[in-house]
Amino acid sequence: MTTVIRNGRIIDPANKRDEFGELFIVDGKIAAAAKDRDAEVIDAKGLVVAPGVIDLHVHLREPGFGWKETIETGARAAAAGGFTTIVCMPNTSPVADSPGTIAWIRDRAAEVACVNVLPTGAISKGLMGEELAPIGSLQQAGVVAITDDGRCVQNNELMRRAVEYARMVGVPVLDHCQDYNLVGNGVVHEGYWSTLLGLPGWPSAGEEVIVMRNALLAELCDHYVHCQHISATGSVRILREARARGVKISGEVCPHHIALSDDAIQDFDTNFKMNPPLRSKEDIAAIHEGIADGTLEILCSDHAPHAQFEKEVEFDAAPFGILGLETELGLFLDLLVHKNKTIGLPRLIEMFTVNPARLLQIDAGTLSAGRAADVTLIDPELEWTVGASKFQSMSRNTPFDGWKLKGRAVRTIVGGKTVWAL
Ligand SMILES: [Zn+2]
Repeated sequence: MTTVIRNGRIIDPANKRDEFGELFIVDGKIAAAAKDRDAEVIDAKGLVVAPGVIDLHVHLREPGFGWKETIETGARAAAAGGFTTIVCMPNTSPVADSPGTIAWIRDRAAEVACVNVLPTGAISKGLMGEELAPIGSLQQAGVVAITDDGRCVQNNELMRRAVEYARMVGVPVLDHCQDYNLVGNGVVHEGYWSTLLGLPGWPSAGEEVIVMRNALLAELCDHYVHCQHISATGSVRILREARARGVKISGEVCPHHIALSDDAIQDFDTNFKMNPPLRSKEDIAAIHEGIADGTLEILCSDHAPHAQFEKEVEFDAAPFGILGLETELGLFLDLLVHKNKTIGLPRLIEMFTVNPARLLQIDAGTLSAGRAADVTLIDPELEWTVGASKFQSMSRNTPFDGWKLKGRAVRTIVGGKTVWAL
């Protein structure tokens, strides 16, 4: 079985390749050449041929919350967004803190998911922040990282031991940075709008303090700690300083933190409620700077599906989080490449492929011959309108319905097989 992708601009940052040419797929793998005369031909004129993009921050809600999303629907949403590999968070029910649950997720994904699904395991048992999960057994069961995402280990000594164990077994630690005492019951960015609207504030310092803690522990333990969904100016500054000294610390950006600022919460629409919250225009500028200078090196969604009945409550009571998989590539292309010209296309692709693959030490994110043929075809100029009613996801909690965006994935190929096309 041979496929030839013709006339496209091949951008493969792992191999420093950016040129017009042909990409060959033979028996599910990238090939240097192909002889087959009956090859399937895909015309990629006007398209970018990229390594399959990776989203390392996704909530698939299974096991336990199948009314929000399932592994099957979440994977379909990923494919529709261009993603060939997604990394799912452990805040399920049961929590993914045991080899049995990891095995269940991997088996289920192998059965029903049309893209690669890689599980993470919890840092602490039950995400309670009190006792370490069996990190060695989780690694043997196949997790690509450990994280308590949704929650944050407050005990710095416990976190130190987590980073040490993670180093021993060779997985990075991903951290949702939130100091519980500083944040309290905060639901929106602490500032002008929280005061005006009378909503409890979630101060930037609540994130920055933990980013600083993580930088210190990454340095102390000489191991990789990755700060999830960075939202605040100070976090960018701390990461920049630590990385310049060679500390093994990194950060990621979600589209909502640059697409929207905290003034968007005026209507008390719970589709604008996420954790960490939307911040100020100054914070958005700082994140753009951090992306431009490489301080923030990974893009992802924090895809967090919730059913309508759960979000249709008063702002304080609504769960945090919004959908991401089916809008993120469009939002990042539109905002980073077109509107603000923060980075060019090759950098954007690097942030979605080699960079997450390197952090997680996974065999993905490149178009090297011999590797699995995971490929994303992107039309960077295509203008389209977000239509939440047509999402593959089971949920509809997006603030971006009706947005006009420029650029999106038009075909998703996993292991040589097209799993989604526009
Ligand atoms: Zn989180």
